[in-house]
Amino acid sequence: MRMLIGGTWIEGDRQIEVLNPFDDSVIDTVPSASPEQVEEAIRSAERGFEVMRKMPAHQRSAILNRTAELLTEHTEALGRLLAQEVGKTLNEGRTEAGRAAETFTLAAEEAKRIHGETVPYDAAAHGTNKMGFFIRVPIGIVCAITPFNFPLNLAAHKVGPAIAAGCAIIFKPASATPLADLRMGELLLEAGLPPEAINIVTGSGETVGELLVADERIRKVSFTGSADVGKHIMKTAGLKKCTMELGSNSAVVIMDDADLSAAADRIRVGGYAVAGQVCISTQRVLIHEAVFDDMMGELLPRVRGLRAGDQLDETTDVGPMITRDIAAETEGNIREAVDGGARLLCGGERDGAVVQPAVLLDVPRESFLGGSEAFAPLICVNRFSDIDEAIRLVNDSPYGLQAGIYTQNINNAFSFIKEAEVGGVMVNEVPTFRVDGMPYGGVKDSGLGREGPRFAIEDMTEIRVVAFSL
Ligand code: NAP
Repeated sequence: MRMLIGGTWIEGDRQIEVLNPFDDSVIDTVPSASPEQVEEAIRSAERGFEVMRKMPAHQRSAILNRTAELLTEHTEALGRLLAQEVGKTLNEGRTEAGRAAETFTLAAEEAKRIHGETVPYDAAAHGTNKMGFFIRVPIGIVCAITPFNFPLNLAAHKVGPAIAAGCAIIFKPASATPLADLRMGELLLEAGLPPEAINIVTGSGETVGELLVADERIRKVSFTGSADVGKHIMKTAGLKKCTMELGSNSAVVIMDDADLSAAADRIRVGGYAVAGQVCISTQRVLIHEAVFDDMMGELLPRVRGLRAGDQLDETTDVGPMITRDIAAETEGNIREAVDGGARLLCGGERDGAVVQPAVLLDVPRESFLGGSEAFAPLICVNRFSDIDEAIRLVNDSPYGLQAGIYTQNINNAFSFIKEAEVGGVMVNEVPTFRVDGMPYGGVKDSGLGREGPRFAIEDMTEIRVVAFSL
């Protein structure tokens, strides 16, 4: 495939191979953009912004709705492409394609609701005889950078709100997974988006990403990815708005009055979807000591029943990780935890990029898996004796994206809501729960700002205040 600059599909001097992680077969190639091509994309976006800022809301909304329709028409093909490039199962691929369409629909609706408020100037003595209001104006060129694990829907969370807000976009997808994103570019053009408003440049983060983030003509960076790269971007970006959607090692708490069967059903999904490569994957499972044995009796058979393997086989539950090397790192992280005293209750064996779904018990806090983001098909189980200890364990993390609690006791639920240091609390649900309209994002090393079209649009617009002398 080629990259998209100003409505033209462009080749590069060098190519990047996009691989199926299950067998390393080449699915396609994309160009690696040169610095001159990055400059071309920025100039194109400058022209795109001049068009977008003048486009009325109903037209922006119509383009977004049409994009959603086109994504829906192509769900099966896009789902398959996502399965091939990410390694997610066919069902996970279809689900992501469907959610991307939904995210564009939400953005289409929000495009019609961007407004300000009147300002009570006369609250100050020198504001007597003044009247006015503020409006929201598009911020300018938005640079979107996405990770490999949800290429299409995370792009939709940046591109959709940017169009809704009247911005132009330069989008750099992850090098491992750019294909569905380039298809999305075709559909945006077909939906009637002015060609210079969407520029999709492929190439590595260290070259293309760096150039974009540092450029002063770009007013906003919307980044989803790892905490290390996010912190680096914040240093490079200078005076521009940044949204940072970063990683986590999310925890779920199982209280002694929990519905254990319901919790085990959801952990089976939350811990292993997309081979655990989800920012809100359920990584830590904290179980009240009074129900520990019963909960493990529910959980272990469910995890052992998961079928890991070729993601393009409809019967597979857990596909490969993104590369063999990263799968080998996971194997090493499991070995380190076990050497430090953890017990491996099931899974953990590796074949190529496929890691068998694993359950570890009593993982030492100082090991990699005890304190960092695993981003792998595994959960780490620990016991606790009361709600205070559970909350302390949840908060004993550099991250704070989402957390879950299973309980029938409203006081426990509210203590958790008040005390957990996270961006989202899920009651009787795993932390992996997300719908695309909700405000989504984290605290601490999990990031800054919130996505979900309404909230992303706030960050892609500036307030302009107006005063009239009467
Ligand atoms: P990553 O290595 O941080 O890469 C993310 C993106 O940043 C890629 O497009 C990458 O390009 C680019 N990049 C790398 N270095 C850069 C630089 N110096 N300047 C600008 N861009 C740069 O993350 P990943 O491994 O793809 O994804 C996994 C991470 O994403 C996990 O930590 C996960 O938790 C997080 N995540 C967070 C959310 C959320 O909403 N909070 C959602 C999904 C994933 P290349 O691909 O070319 O290296």
